[in-house]
Parts: sequence; C-alpha cells; structure tokens
Amino acid sequence: MRAEIISIGTELLLGETVDTNSNYLAGQLPLLGIDLYWISQVGDNQLRLVEVLKRAWQRSELLLTTGGLGPTEDDLTRESIAEMFGEDMSVSLVLKQEIEEFFSQRGLEMPLSNLKQATLIPSASAIHNIRGTAPGWWVEKDSHILIAMPGPPREMQHMWELEVQPKLRQRFAGTVILSRTVKTFGLTEAAVDEMVTPLLSGTNPTLAIYAKADGIYLRLTTKAQSQIDAEETLARGEASVRSILGEYIWGTDHDTLEGVVGQLLVEKGLSLAVVESCTGGLLAATITDVPGSSIYFKGGIVAYSNEAKVACGVAPGLIANCGAISLEVARAMAQAARAYLKADIGVSTTGVAGPNGVENKAAGMLYIAVDDGHTSRVIQGNYPGNRPQIKRRATTAALFELKKLLTAVNDNRKT
Ligand code: AMP
Ligand code: MG
Repeated sequence: MRAEIISIGTELLLGETVDTNSNYLAGQLPLLGIDLYWISQVGDNQLRLVEVLKRAWQRSELLLTTGGLGPTEDDLTRESIAEMFGEDMSVSLVLKQEIEEFFSQRGLEMPLSNLKQATLIPSASAIHNIRGTAPGWWVEKDSHILIAMPGPPREMQHMWELEVQPKLRQRFAGTVILSRTVKTFGLTEAAVDEMVTPLLSGTNPTLAIYAKADGIYLRLTTKAQSQIDAEETLARGEASVRSILGEYIWGTDHDTLEGVVGQLLVEKGLSLAVVESCTGGLLAATITDVPGSSIYFKGGIVAYSNEAKVACGVAPGLIANCGAISLEVARAMAQAARAYLKADIGVSTTGVAGPNGVENKAAGMLYIAVDDGHTSRVIQGNYPGNRPQIKRRATTAALFELKKLLTAVNDNRKT
C-alpha cells in the first residue's frame, strides 16, 4: 500500500501558510503501517489539481488530500475529483440538511454558497465533520482509496482522528511502522556515515542519517506485524548503533540535551553554575528551558568583557598572558562559576561568535570548560556558521561536555 498526500491551496505555494497538514498526516501513517511515498502541494487551479490527482492515482493506492473543500469559488477539490473520475456532482439532501442544521444551531441561515459543500459524486461517501461545514469525501474505486479532508488543521485532525484513522486501522490491521532516533554530537555527518556503513545496507531496521542543529541523528525504522516485534527490532538496531557510536550518543527520540543533563544532575544530586562569554546567556537560557531546573541550576553570569571575567574571579594576569579566548581562561571561568555561585560543577564558554575574528582567532573558534573540583576538561572547537549558529553550537557543545563529565562521575561511582 503506497500512500500519497496532496495539500491543496494557493496560500501554501505563496508561502503564506505552512503545510502542517501533510506534516501531521505523515506522522500518522507509520502508526498504521502505511508507507508514505510522496507529498505534493498544489494551488487552487483545477487543471493542475486534476493533473496532480491523476498522477497520484496512477502511482499510489491511498490518496489523502487536504484543503479546497470550502464554500468559495476558489475551492475546487470536489470539482477536480469529479473531473478525474468523469462523474457528475449532485447535491445530497442529507448533507444539505446537516449543513443547514450547523448554521441554524448558531442562529444563522445557510448562505447559498455553502450548498456546494453538500455535493457528492456517485463513488464518494461523505465523511462527517463536526467542527465545520465541509464534509470530507471517501472514494473507493479499482482497489484505490481517495480521502479528501478540509484544510483548517483543527477540522482536518478531528476528522482524521474520529472518522478516517479508525477505518484505515481496521482495513490495515496487522502492520506497524515504528521509528527510533538516536542522537549524537561531536562527529560530522560523513564520519557517522562511515562508522555505521555496515548497518546502512540493512533493511530491517533501515537506517538513515541526518544533520540537525544539535548534532547528527540516526533514524532506525522497521515495519513489523506487531508492536512488540517492531520494538524488538528497534532495540536490536539501537544496540548495534550504540556499540559503534556509544560515547557520542546523548539521547533518543524526544530527548533534549539540556533535559538529559538535567536528569543526570538530579540523579547525582549535583548543582550547576555557568560563566559564559561568547554564548551571551544562551547556555543559561537553554538550561532553564527544562522545567524543574531550579533544583540543580544555581545560575549564570554573562562575563562578556574582561572586567566581568575578572569580577567573577579570573586572574587579570591570566587574561593578559593567555588572551580572553584561551584554554587557560576557559578553565579559570569554569572554576570561577563553581566558586562564585557555590556550585558542584562549573561550565564556561569563551570564543569568537563572528563574523569577524578576535585576538587573531577566527570566527567559530571557542573553548569550553567543565569543572567539578576533581576533573577539569577543556575542549577547543572550530564551528562553522553565522553568529547565532555558532552561539547555538557552542551551547550544545558545552552541554555535551557536561553530559560526558556527569556520565564519568556515574562510572567512577560504580567502580
Ligand atoms: P480550505 O479548506 O482550502 O478552504 O482551507 C482553509 C484554511 O485552512 C486555509 O486558509 C489555511 O489557513 C488552512 N489550511 C489549508 N491547507 C492547509 C495545510 N496543508 N496546512 C495547514 N493549514 C492549511
Ligand atoms: Mg483553500
């Protein structure tokens, strides 16, 4: 069963409306074990709409459309489906009555333009829409199914959940597609690709690699007869990925790096403070995105100038000798964070956010230090990108170093 989504509306092509409907439906189909092969967007133009529909009908067995079911002249989905099948539209008295009731319940009379929402073709049955006036269409023909749903996301999602999804679930019972994402940091996409080459040729689970702002993600996907089988296959796949990329992995699926770090701090009963320069407060802001972070986060200082660094406790001579963007100053800032804010662990960032270099150092060059009083680690990074991207990268790198330190604390305790 190949599925295809067609989002209809000129506003999508003008960039005025983001196509969240296809995104929503794309997330729903794997839960039913249905493979999605194409997503198309087309404007409110009958010629092009019929063309897109015909092509989809040829190459896919399940077509899901959203949009173009409104009462106005430019909503042409029904007309286009009717043209594709060569069938005539006629008003269904039952639907007409339902739409009239929708208006009368609101003390209104049905405008004449809404009459077209009460139309059907012989192959179509109506799909109930309790949140709006536009019923959907369900067409079954030649082992193909076409389902037309309204454009407003709340109407579409409600119709999907209540009417469409249960029917499809019944029809396609017995398959499930599950995915798991493994999240890494510290390697390039090419390096990850090379390391997991042996796994890339596997078909169950399949493995895909993609770059995100907070690292390289690996997505494992499997299709199975049951949820349990699918989960077992994913667990096996994840174990293989972990055996290769172990130390670079910081989480899975909906994990965030700041959330993972927060969890570790809670588990260890440790507190955290930061002194940041090039990230300008982004590190503290990200740490505090986690609900309950006040349990472990003592606070942060944006020590942007040399004076501020000195005020936190960095020796003026160190800055003069080594430069503000240096391994030594990064380390001193992390120690200052611990001392000044009486925290168990201090983290610091100092570097060049760009676009211009500073102190003969190029944009993207930065030092990150973590210090827990026993161990002090400093890493030097060189990150590409514009100013916001470098700040974001530095924040992620600092959280990742912190995660590594916290995991090591864990390991030390075990031994
Ligand atoms: P329509 O059913 O074409 O009259 O669409 C009504 C409204 O739904 C549009 O004005 C958009 O605001 C919204 N809409 C339509 N298609 C989409 C889509 N694919 N994703 C998100 N919103 C949409
Ligand atoms: Mg429209």
